[in-house]
Formats: sequence, structure tokens, C-alpha cells
Amino acid sequence: QETPAERFQRQHMDSDGNPNNNPNYCNQMMRRRRMTEGRCKPVNTFVHEPLVDVRAICIQPNIRCRNGQNNCHKSRSSMRVTDCRLKNGSRYPNCAYHTSPAKRQITVACDGNRVPVHFDA
Ligand code: 5GP
Repeated sequence: QETPAERFQRQHMDSDGNPNNNPNYCNQMMRRRRMTEGRCKPVNTFVHEPLVDVRAICIQPNIRCRNGQNNCHKSRSSMRVTDCRLKNGSRYPNCAYHTSPAKRQITVACDGNRVPVHFDA
């Protein structure tokens, strides 16, 4: 059974990935990471930084998450990410995504073991 921490890694970690201008990155990765089963997940972010650096976000001060819980943390530094967003008119099971590389601070929720379990922003 997949733990919340494992699920976070499946959905958001691609440390070695470098989607530099590969317009198919999200189409391939959203399918490969099983986010196009049953429905097309509409928005998802992949992080291209070492797992230790993403885990270290959990020792930043607690801030409020979008759902009102207070177990979110914002990275001090900018991180390399890829935003995947479902294209308008894309219909399951043909999940077609826009791929947008970016560099910015990210916010994750962490559990009691101080590991990321949710991507908030
Ligand atoms: P929308 O613009 O469609 O209303 O929602 C985008 C929101 O999704 C933004 O607030 C953004 O921070 C958030 N977001 C970006 N990537 C992810 C992700 O991987 N998972 C979740 N749950 N939210 C994300």
C-alpha cells in the first residue's frame, strides 16, 4: 500500500528530469506517474530538485495551506519545476497537457515525520 509520502514522490518528484522544451513532457509523465487513470488530473507540478532539498522545506516555518490546515511550508529558494495543466477541451481518456517549465518557491504540506505529503502551491 502506498504511503502519503510515497504518493507525493510519485506525483511530484522528478529530480533527474529536465523537460527543457519537450512539449510532450507532461503528456508522458502524467500518464507514467498514473495521474490519468479514471480521470485526467487537471493541474500537477513536478519538481526537478534532489529529494533531500524538497524534504528540507519541512523545517521551514509553518504556514497556512489552501485547505486551512497549518502544516504547510514554503521553500526558501526557488526550485526548478514543471507545471502541467490539462488543455482546454481535452477529454478523458485522452489527457493532453500544457508543459510549462518555471523556477519559483514552492509550498508543500508535511506530516509528523517531516516529510512532504502534499503539493500546495
Ligand atoms: P487553478 O488555477 O486551476 O484554479 O488551480 C491552480 C492551483 O493549483 C494553484 O493554486 C496552484 O498553486 C495549485 N497547484 C499547482 N500544482 C499543484 C499540484 O501539483 N497539486 C495541487 N493539489 N495543486 C497544485
